[in-house]
Amino acid sequence: MASESVKVVVRCRPLNDREKAMNCKTVISIDSSHCQCFIEKPGATEEPPKQFTFDGTYYINHSTEQIYNEIAYPLVEGVTEGYNGTIFAYGQTGSGKSFTMQGVLDPPSQRGIIPRAFEHIFETIQCAENTKFLVRASYLEIYKEEIRDLLGKETKQKMELKEHPERGVYVRDLSMHTVHSVGECERIMDQGWKNRSVGYTLMNKDSSRSHSIFTIHLEICNTGSERQSKTGATGDRLQEATKINLSLSALGNVISALVDGRSKHIPYRDSKLTRLLQDSLGGNTRTLMVACLSPADNNYEESISTLRYANRAK
Ligand code: ADP
Repeated sequence: MASESVKVVVRCRPLNDREKAMNCKTVISIDSSHCQCFIEKPGATEEPPKQFTFDGTYYINHSTEQIYNEIAYPLVEGVTEGYNGTIFAYGQTGSGKSFTMQGVLDPPSQRGIIPRAFEHIFETIQCAENTKFLVRASYLEIYKEEIRDLLGKETKQKMELKEHPERGVYVRDLSMHTVHSVGECERIMDQGWKNRSVGYTLMNKDSSRSHSIFTIHLEICNTGSERQSKTGATGDRLQEATKINLSLSALGNVISALVDGRSKHIPYRDSKLTRLLQDSLGGNTRTLMVACLSPADNNYEESISTLRYANRAK
């Protein structure tokens, strides 16, 4: 995978009420114009802050709208053109992953990346001539290495990972939901989120073992032979475009091994998450990782490890 197909950005949330009540200090500072993030070790006043540079750095003055337009937009645009795209949020519990991916309705600028991607895709569909699109969504959770369908009739049922010579790695019997509007997407997203094993407001140690993958499957069917012959789209290209997959979570060490390019062994098989995303992370895929941070001094260790992890994935 070419390194330019992987982008890494950092987003730091504001101090929350609990951190304020505990008189936590802010140890993160951001210089967005230079895409830099600095972290100070609490109590080590003589040590210079550690500095990291990414493809983008966002702080409390930035909205998800801005992050989407600057960094996610081209990736989703690629999806409508036949590339795979994977956007995933990484970071400790409570650092802003769901805020970034699912988002909130109010203010509108903080709507999440997932509904924005849907909106983007539907806008493209409305403008497209001679092309039919089928948009479907699936949503699963991997918790303690067990896969569950967050949108299935039986959400408690454990699902099996299967490998097919053409389809690649897939989850047997995972439910697929045809989506016609952004509103429907939001309903599906909320419904699946409520079915997760771990309550997201809890600073629960176990929640770090819960990953959820929301996938938008986009099938593009070219109905206009004129355009096809004009652009000279080949069979290969059309086939590529028929099954496009936008996955939303992955493990950074696989990415890092892919970016590194020197590793012979990509540790896909190490977890269900990476096995499942295997096809979405290689080949014609663009990947965006959003590393989420708490600014508080009592989260210094987690924050520095998130920054190092994100740095490795660059
Ligand atoms: P995670 O999914 O990483 O466990 P959340 O997204 O649930 O964390 O965020 C924890 C809390 O912090 C939520 O109440 C959320 O609304 C708030 N929060 C996170 N990021 C931001 C932000 N950039 N601006 C304002 N509030 C935020």
